[in-house]
Amino acid sequence: MILDKIDQLLKEVSNLSAQNADEIEQLRLKYLSKKGDITALMADFRNVPAEQKKEVGMKINELKQLAQDKLKELKECVGQQNKAEDAPDLTRTPYPIRLGTRHPLTIVRNQIIDIFQRMGFTLAEGPEIDDDLHVFTKLNFAPDHPARDMQDTFFIESNPNDVTKSVILRSHTSNDQSRVMERQQPPIRVICPGRVFRNEAISARAHCFFHQLEGLYIDKNVSFTDLKQVLLTFARELFGPDTDIRLRPSYFPFTEPSAEMDISCHICGGEGCGFCKHTGWVEILGCGMVDPNVLEACGIDSTVYSGYAFGLGIERITNLKYHVADLRMFSENDVRFLQEFQSAN
Ligand SMILES: [Zn+2]
Repeated sequence: MILDKIDQLLKEVSNLSAQNADEIEQLRLKYLSKKGDITALMADFRNVPAEQKKEVGMKINELKQLAQDKLKELKECVGQQNKAEDAPDLTRTPYPIRLGTRHPLTIVRNQIIDIFQRMGFTLAEGPEIDDDLHVFTKLNFAPDHPARDMQDTFFIESNPNDVTKSVILRSHTSNDQSRVMERQQPPIRVICPGRVFRNEAISARAHCFFHQLEGLYIDKNVSFTDLKQVLLTFARELFGPDTDIRLRPSYFPFTEPSAEMDISCHICGGEGCGFCKHTGWVEILGCGMVDPNVLEACGIDSTVYSGYAFGLGIERITNLKYHVADLRMFSENDVRFLQEFQSAN
């Protein structure tokens, strides 16, 4: 009697089907819950004669196992159907992709690199964290020279016994130059763009990090006129063919003689305006002939070779081109500001 009932349930359970989770739950209640059919069999088991108990017990266990397996199988089946319904519709019209813009500093840096590459300069890049030896000492900054005060820097590791071994954030990209001269004999013609760091209070006009691009040219018979012509070509390529330049004597530890270069104000054409403080000229870079001490410190014979170097701030040039009022805007990632350069790409 109870065996017939079990056989009938076995048949029923092996043919179960369900369309969704609700139906599966209904089946679970019908067979496996406290009041379910299979649980009811357990109650009847008490009345089974002793000699049948073994056979009936095994059959009930078989039925229970089958019901559990079947419900699990149905659950997986329904789950997969749901997943298929969630799959993306590949025929749907796509959202338009919004193009980003290049950062203004990147735009200007690429323009400057392009101009110098056309004049035969190649790119060289060096580390932002470097030792004092390459950032200062090899570039003719004596350990106790006051010129070091012009570039207050960040120390990663200070070495009081030997300052040349201190590890610092570079305060100019000139460390690239000392590294290029160390590993390469002239002719050398490189430009070194990169990020530099100085211990400055952050304001609209100064930041603790900014970007430079330096150039270095070393060969036999390089003269100051070569430097002047290269810089004039650069200024006219970047600011227009009517641009004039002027050089004012200046001081840098690594060049002798040294100069600061101005360009004629491209807003008033040299007449004088608020932008150029009514002088007609705007300062854009520093330059000079490489000091023989620097060549010697980097393993280049200064009696055979000479060279020039120049360095400019990319933020400064970008300001001249686009009149960005506040230096901090370059690093604030304000999308409204960055989008203004969409057409400049
Ligand atoms: Zn002006």
